[in-house]
Amino acid sequence: MSETFPMSKTIAIIGAGPVGLAAAAHAIERGLTPLVLERGPSVGHAVRRWAHVPMFSPWAFNIDAAAGRLLADRRWPSPRWHCAPGSHVPWRAR
Ligand SMILES: Cc1cc2nc3c(=O)[nH]c(=O)nc-3n(C[C@H](O)[C@H](O)[C@H](O)COP(=O)(O)OP(=O)(O)OC[C@H]3O[C@@H](n4cnc5c(N)ncnc54)[C@H](O)[C@@H]3O)c2cc1C
Repeated sequence: MSETFPMSKTIAIIGAGPVGLAAAAHAIERGLTPLVLERGPSVGHAVRRWAHVPMFSPWAFNIDAAAGRLLADRRWPSPRWHCAPGSHVPWRAR
């Protein structure tokens, strides 16, 4: 790419699943503007399709570091890090 063209600060991210949303959080931390393109009707479309299934991994493994920092800035109530979402039972490695 020629150096005479200005670099765009907007990046496209395909899919608003956990990975796409984490990528968006990292882009924001780097001063970029993410444009997240989701083919489903809402964010997390694929995950919502199995939302009736309890998650097995605790919050500590489910929150990307950059996403966690953005949420903390917005006073997101801290979850029980050692419990899976929707559970109050601490997770134990087997
Ligand atoms: C029943 C079940 C239980 C699970 N439990 C856990 C758990 O407890 N803990 C855990 O860590 N993981 C769990 N997983 C795995 C976890 O869901 C996946 O690892 C995670 O969702 C992968 O994230 P992803 O963003 O890569 O993909 P996805 O979640 O599949 O998200 C991809 C997104 O991209 C969209 N998309 C796809 N193609 C396009 C396109 N061409 N254009 C625009 N948008 C597009 C989709 O609609 C979707 O919203 C579970 C999975 C299942 C099925």
